[in-house]
This record gives sequence, C-alpha cells and structure tokens, in this order.
Amino acid sequence: MNRTITLTLALAIGMASVFAQKVEIPKIDWDGLQKTKPWEASEQWTPVPKKVTPAYLTAPPSDAIVLFDGTNLDNWHKPKYSYGARMDEVEAIIKARAQQQEYSEAEWVVKDGAMIVKPGGGPIESKQAFGDMQLHVEWLSPETTGKEGQAYSNSGVFLMGLYEIQVLNSYENKTYPNGQAGAMYKQHIPLVNASRPPGEWQAYDIVFNAPRFDAKGNLERAATVTAFHNGVLIQNNVVLEGPCVYIGKAHYVQHAEKLPLILQDHGDKVRFRNIWVREL
Ligand code: MG
Repeated sequence: MNRTITLTLALAIGMASVFAQKVEIPKIDWDGLQKTKPWEASEQWTPVPKKVTPAYLTAPPSDAIVLFDGTNLDNWHKPKYSYGARMDEVEAIIKARAQQQEYSEAEWVVKDGAMIVKPGGGPIESKQAFGDMQLHVEWLSPETTGKEGQAYSNSGVFLMGLYEIQVLNSYENKTYPNGQAGAMYKQHIPLVNASRPPGEWQAYDIVFNAPRFDAKGNLERAATVTAFHNGVLIQNNVVLEGPCVYIGKAHYVQHAEKLPLILQDHGDKVRFRNIWVREL
C-alpha cells in the first residue's frame, strides 16, 4: 500500500478510536470524603436573608411553552447523565451528554395536578432544550416531621442542567444561606427569604441568560440570573461563576447554546406544577 494512504488510514483509524472512546465519569469516594467533608468549605452561613411575606401566583401567559400542565410527563424523561457534584464530574458529564446521552421514561408520579419526585427514581429532564429564557416553576414542600437543613424538601431546578436554583423548605429551617431556597446553589444567597410554609405552593420566576463561548471554547459572557420567589425579587442579575457544584469552586466549561432543564431528585417528595418557559 502506498505510504501516504497507509498513513492517512492509520490517522483516520486513530481519530475514530479517539471519538469512539467512552467518557469515564469520575468515581467520587463518598465514604472517604466523609472524613474531610469538602462540601462544607463552600457553605456560606452569613448573611442570613431577612423574611418577607410574599405575593400570590399567576397563570401562564399565552405565548408560553408549557412543560407541565398537571396532566402528564410527556415533555420529560430520565437522563442517564444529569448533573455533577464536583467540576471534574461536571466536565465528564458534559462530554458524555454530548456523545452518549441515553434516556429512559421519567419515573416521577403525577397526582392531583402535580408531579412528585419519586425518591431514588432519579432526576427528570425536559425533552426540549433552552438557552436564554423566562421560566416559571411552582413547587411545594410537603410537611414532614424529623427532617431539617438540606434534608427538608430538597430538590432543585437546574437551568441548562448545570446552573441550580435551590428548592428547599426554608420557611423555618436553618441551613447555609447559599444553599437555602432561591439560592443559586453555593454561589448567590437570595436577597430575602420569601418562603411560604411547607404544604403551601410557591413560585419561582426566573430570567436566565445563558453563557456565551467563542469558537475555541473560551467564555465570552458569563450566565446571569434574575429570580423572583413568590413575586419577590431574590436574585438581581447575578453573574454565575460556572455550574453550581456541591464540592469545590466552579468554573465554566464550554457547552451547547441550548440544553434541557433538569429537576432534581434529592430523595424528598417535593411537588411541582405549572412549569412554563418563554424563550428569549
Ligand atoms: Mg437541591
């Protein structure tokens, strides 16, 4: 065989094997990490947002894309790769999602006009992807005895599957403020605590501007979030440092212009309803 052809062929096979390589998601040694608890380093305990009494809720506008109207999970499925606890995991997941994402049926329960987290059933992801958007989500923390802190009705809305606005009972439930309801998790404490008590429906209205990357993958513009909790401004055009991670500092990793929303299964039967998006 001609030398040039042989070389080209070898190069092509090499390239193909690089592209075909399975992305390895890093294994996190949770038992080992219990000794040092690195997630505590990014918990911010002051300032504590003051409490305000919130306003009431609204119906979807006529031009909204309704993702959940109380009847079924047709617009949702369960992703094999969802979100990561540390940046190395996030980076691997972004790659895996682009190359080998797999889905199965969403396992959450639809009941009484709401969809309810099925503990252990995994997160759910919108079938449609979004970039810049106005998002409305209503959620309810069921009254539960014997739970506190991050364990009392924890869920989350992951914008683009990466940037989490925390869902938690924060009515009278102490935790680190950069992890309470309405926090951009471990990055921005809400301006005030507009939480309603467990058992009452609450709403988030969010304006999200997705990050922009140049052709080389460098960050051109960071993501920003403005959010209202029960009609009260809690995040005022805050700039995100990158994906919202549980352990360590965030940094940006290039990703698609549009990505789906993910709702978190954190083991609590949090309910959601009336979810809609207006693309910006
Ligand atoms: Mg959460």
